[in-house]
Amino acid sequence: MPLVETDAIVLHAFDYSETSRILRLATRDAGLQSVLARGARRSKSRFGSALDLFAQGAAQLHLKDGRDLQTLASFDVTRSRAELGEDLGRFAGASALAELVLRFSGADDVSVQLFDVLTDALDRVAEAPDSRTIEATLSGAWRLVAELGFAPTIDACASCHAPVGADDDVAFSHRAGGVLCERCSRLQPGDRTLPPAAREAIARWSGGDRLGECDERAVRAHQRLLREFLQLHLADGRALRAFDAWEQGALVAR
Ligand SMILES: [Zn+2]
Repeated sequence: MPLVETDAIVLHAFDYSETSRILRLATRDAGLQSVLARGARRSKSRFGSALDLFAQGAAQLHLKDGRDLQTLASFDVTRSRAELGEDLGRFAGASALAELVLRFSGADDVSVQLFDVLTDALDRVAEAPDSRTIEATLSGAWRLVAELGFAPTIDACASCHAPVGADDDVAFSHRAGGVLCERCSRLQPGDRTLPPAAREAIARWSGGDRLGECDERAVRAHQRLLREFLQLHLADGRALRAFDAWEQGALVAR
């Protein structure tokens, strides 16, 4: 059984039997993997407390072709991201990002770039000031969407590629995958109207730039737009439970 060494992030974890845990890992070099960590629940486990959610480290995996559940040989934590477990808003945001990767990248298509974006996105949610965790999550989610190849078209018409006025409110169509020029939006109405500031925010978030604080209404509109976009392009109508919990929780928290 080949032993593979790779950086990995714990995206999902649950207890298995009296002594072990099963983890879903995003790895830098071996895609998404479900692994059994034997003995991880023992008090003197060789994994220590390293296997908490969103922890990142150097993992050794025994990989066997055709198996759904692989074996984790070791995990040396390099970033525990304990901040994500200590605050509900951060935890909900990080969980929504984890769900994006778990649901929408297959076993073989966690690219190095996607892994690096996820790493940075989780760090930013962990480090953001309390009032900015939602923006950090929105930014991380749009960057992951872009890395998965679904970035919306923001600066020109998604249907006919005509330029759209930089200072105009323009229609956004989920089905077309971006904004629509006036002519196209008359033929096929959009789902939402995006003011220039909202388009700029999505463009900057998708590119990994930080942004000044959004007001509450804008944040809610961004969450709604992102949810609708994910539902249409990635989720096949299935519920996004962590995303929904993040969106609902954010409403209560602000
Ligand atoms: Zn057009």
